[in-house]
Amino acid sequence: MLSASQWIAVLAIVAVGATMITAAVGYEMARRSDEKLWTEQRASLRNAMAEFRGLFGRSGSIDPGFVRMAEQNAGLKDLKFETNPASSQREMQPAIDAQGRIAGFFTWDRVHPMTETMNRLMPLIAGIAIVLVIFAGVALGMLRRAQRDLAASEAQAQRAADSDKLTGLPNHAKMLELLDLALAERAGPEITSFVLIEVDGLADVDAQCGNDELVAAVANALQQALPPSATVGRIGSDKFAVAITGADEVEPAIRAALDAMTRPDLTGTAVRVSAHAGFAQTPRHATTRGELTRRAELALRAAAEKGPGAIVGFDMSFDVASADHKFITRELPRALEANELELHYQPIVAANGGKMVGVEALLRWTHPVRGPIGPAVFIPVAEQMGFMEVLGAFVLRRALMEAKRWPDLYVAVNLSPLQVRDASIVDLVRAALRESGVAPERLVLEITEGVLIDNPEEMVQRIDDLHALGVSVALDDFGSGYSNLGYLQRFPLDKLKIDRSFVAGLGTSANGGVIIQAIVALGRALGLSVLVEGVETEQQRVLLRLAGCDEMQGYLFAKPAPARAIDRLLAQARQGRTPEALTA
Ligand code: C2E
Ligand code: MG
Ligand code: MG
Repeated sequence: MLSASQWIAVLAIVAVGATMITAAVGYEMARRSDEKLWTEQRASLRNAMAEFRGLFGRSGSIDPGFVRMAEQNAGLKDLKFETNPASSQREMQPAIDAQGRIAGFFTWDRVHPMTETMNRLMPLIAGIAIVLVIFAGVALGMLRRAQRDLAASEAQAQRAADSDKLTGLPNHAKMLELLDLALAERAGPEITSFVLIEVDGLADVDAQCGNDELVAAVANALQQALPPSATVGRIGSDKFAVAITGADEVEPAIRAALDAMTRPDLTGTAVRVSAHAGFAQTPRHATTRGELTRRAELALRAAAEKGPGAIVGFDMSFDVASADHKFITRELPRALEANELELHYQPIVAANGGKMVGVEALLRWTHPVRGPIGPAVFIPVAEQMGFMEVLGAFVLRRALMEAKRWPDLYVAVNLSPLQVRDASIVDLVRAALRESGVAPERLVLEITEGVLIDNPEEMVQRIDDLHALGVSVALDDFGSGYSNLGYLQRFPLDKLKIDRSFVAGLGTSANGGVIIQAIVALGRALGLSVLVEGVETEQQRVLLRLAGCDEMQGYLFAKPAPARAIDRLLAQARQGRTPEALTA
């Protein structure tokens, strides 16, 4: 395609060319028509002269001026000799006889020779051509200027489109472009960190205080605090992005930036903002821009959860968690329908003698494509998606139905915090017990510490209500979270399940044994039955028994397994095999 200026140049050349060709053609046509005229003129002059001489011989005379003119190409058309010319319109020249009288007339029509006209037109044509050339030149100049202006305003518009109006920083799209550039320019093993910073409190600023001013101040503080090599962009109303190449350790720089951005004296008002940041690095966490930004986003979310001032670097577990979340939300309801969910049971043995006294029901999901997905992964998702009530009811009913086969064992069922908070759990337990016909004394409900702390009064009531049904309540994973021994006595619990993290220290660290001994002693002092989870070695078993715990559960005795496996274990026990047989 031709540009506008090229078009003008081409048109000018064509116009000048056309003018020249027209002129040349016109000139040639004029020359030819004059040639014909001239030939005719000479022929008619010859005839006329012959006629004159025929009449008067040598004696007559003609004006020599006329003869000179007639011998030139003078445009004399239809030249004749007439003794008595009819038309007075024609030009005429008298011919004089020997006696000096007018003997006749040479007559003709005067036509103008075309070439002469052309000669006269030539300057005009040349003038037109020159005007055209000048015109084209001027138009080209104007066009050039217009193009320059356009380019300038385009660049300005581009800058405006690329940057955030308030802060002048690159905007989201531009930031991604700059990040691409940074990634492309990264030399060899250099690390590029992509940092996302979210500022809280900007939206709360009321109009009088000047939100715009504060944003600009925060942005400025951020930029000042970072090394000059860092690329800073504002990618959302309260979100900034930073790309830093070179430094492995970015946390100190981010810390400095967060501190600067949240300084109380930033605008001289009482407004306080807070900020948190998440980051991911190439090549450690990602090699492409998409991956890098996505992972920085996940880190930012984790930082937001941690609270103001938090700086979180990407961790591979974030990725799994977020990928699984979507997948699980979609698949879990279907999985339940499709019977992909089942319960496994893990034996619980008496510390004294090792006899199996109960089982803990543990939910298992084997996805047809993904394979096994752990309850610690999908149960929190089920809670978030509002599916826990359905899932919890399924577990309770299924556990009680299957427990009917083991009249000598109790069955422990885990309740999620959400289930315990909902008062309808009491009705569900009542209904499930009635449907299965299992004695309430054989059901142990496991709840966790967190739910007790959040709402102590209601939980005391809830445990009382459950007790009224005849079931027991155990505190699961004790010591894994708050480990506040003092609050324990407020709750009418029956059993303490000590978290396996305490067991792991047994026999390896010097005071590991002391702590677990103290906890077991405390539980017993509160009148609770004490169970220790996660017993994996013979040494741990011996030490825990010495510590005085009542029951144990762990891989040493048996891993969670389908109900059939419990049937087999019970059959073996009846045949008088030792408890060690459980590990087989
Ligand atoms: P939990 O209730 O504390 O269950 C014990 C967990 O420890 C189980 O993991 C079990 O497989 C594991 N475990 C048992 N013995 C050992 C051992 O010796 N060593 C080690 N390393 N681990 C051992 P699991 O089945 O993955 O369950 C994880 C958590 O998911 C459970 O912790 C429980 O909080 C929750 N959960 C499982 N099933 C259900 C359910 O049906 N409903 C609810 N609300 N939560 C469930
Ligand atoms: Mg449990
Ligand atoms: Mg536990």
